[in-house]
Amino acid sequence: MSTPTGEPSFRQSVDLMFNRAAALLDLPPGLEEKIRVCNATYTVRFGVKLRGEIRTFTGYRSVHSEHMEPVKGGIRYAPTVHQDEVEALAALMTYKCALVTAPFGGSKGGLCIDPRQYEPDELEKITRRFAYELIKRDMINPAQNVPAPDMGTGEREMAIIADQYQRMNTTDINARACVTGKPPHAGGIQGRVEATGRGVQYALREFFRHPEDVKQAGLSGSLDGKRVIVQGLGNVGYHAALFLSTEDGCKITHVVERDGALENPAGLDVQAVHDWILGHGGVRNCPFGTYHEDGVKVLEAECDILIPAALEGVINMHNAADIQAPLIIEAANGPITAGADEVLRHKGAVIIPDLYANAGGVTVSYFEWVKNLSHIRFGRMQRRQEEARHQLIVDELQRLDEHLGGAWSMTPDFKQKYLRGADELELVRSGLDDTMRAAYGSMREVWWGRDDVTDLRTAGFIVGIERVAASYQAKGI
Ligand code: NAD
Repeated sequence: MSTPTGEPSFRQSVDLMFNRAAALLDLPPGLEEKIRVCNATYTVRFGVKLRGEIRTFTGYRSVHSEHMEPVKGGIRYAPTVHQDEVEALAALMTYKCALVTAPFGGSKGGLCIDPRQYEPDELEKITRRFAYELIKRDMINPAQNVPAPDMGTGEREMAIIADQYQRMNTTDINARACVTGKPPHAGGIQGRVEATGRGVQYALREFFRHPEDVKQAGLSGSLDGKRVIVQGLGNVGYHAALFLSTEDGCKITHVVERDGALENPAGLDVQAVHDWILGHGGVRNCPFGTYHEDGVKVLEAECDILIPAALEGVINMHNAADIQAPLIIEAANGPITAGADEVLRHKGAVIIPDLYANAGGVTVSYFEWVKNLSHIRFGRMQRRQEEARHQLIVDELQRLDEHLGGAWSMTPDFKQKYLRGADELELVRSGLDDTMRAAYGSMREVWWGRDDVTDLRTAGFIVGIERVAASYQAKGI
């Protein structure tokens, strides 16, 4: 299946990127092919009675690699969902999980539907039926296949899927672990909704900790003051843009949405723009910046960092040569086609690839799955004990201070921060930060350590493929 630009399909694009990395590895005969191919894709067509008629929907669940189980990957609701896309996304999940050492194989699901055309109770009916079809074939199961949110789905759909699984598996004590991205009151974890965007922020922070890497992109300094274009102010794009602008001093100069783009060279108020989009369905007429009808063209505007956070293939052979951003971080999956990737590399742009950049979602999903299996919230056992131990030190320092005649005293801010034991959200963020730093380190080692690797994507694929290969070699096929 080729794209409107006449380029290879999304799945072929992922395979081309895989091939480029695999060619640099010395894999045993046949293993490369075994890792690359998608193991199975299940297509389901089901009917739901809505508005006085039966409507038929088509859904997919694709399993790319079962070298580790359960397999993991989101469920997407979009009118453009098709088998090729789901298989490409499942393949990316395999390499992504390996790169961030989340103990899962790769999977992905999709339902061909425009969720905006349906009322919440209709979406519940559709989601329940889709989940039923997948659950009865063990394609949703805490030990075998664990979905999560993706484009067009969120906490609500995940809560419905979990409930449907529980109804069909009443004696499964681990039922809640059948899906991640649930709301906290339904077995979810703090920090999952923000996780992918937060991961994008942590990835950029880590990149900017290495001046040599920053120099490769022709940039210098820190994130502070960097001009950023964000495409897609949905779950991932909104959180990434919000955190980068409010916590790191970035200026979000452009937001590109379905119906056009908004520009403000002084930096857009991300929260205000997001609220406007929720209320009005797009950025047209939004008073916080200058509106541009041709959103795609805005991707070519001058900036320091470009964050495509909407959908695949948006940077392709049509516009790659005109993209001015020296640093692109792929918050979405597959936003740059294989052909465009080559054009951009030759231009000297640095691309922080999807398999790393948006891995924050699956990382925190992993924490949620572990929480569900252990049936206890993170920090519940340690928090107060940690506080008590810190109190001992503070008391001792105060005693020392009195002994020295009160010449020194602790700032109240330090005392308050130091005394507080970490809650679940802090632990999740700490685990996510650690994961993003470690994964970047492993990519970076290959990027700078091998003469035949000149980009982060190839480095990321090499790390992922080597880990999957090691797993197959240890266990046998
Ligand atoms: P979402 O549905 O919450 O948001 C998507 C946003 O993109 C929406 O604001 C939508 O209006 C906008 N959009 C859609 N088509 C567009 C177009 N043609 N031009 C400009 N904007 C457009 O989806 P999401 O969960 O934020 O996912 C976005 C991307 O991130 C996808 O590629 C997804 O696979 C990837 N991703 C998501 C997660 C997650 O946890 N949600 C995790 C990893 C990767």
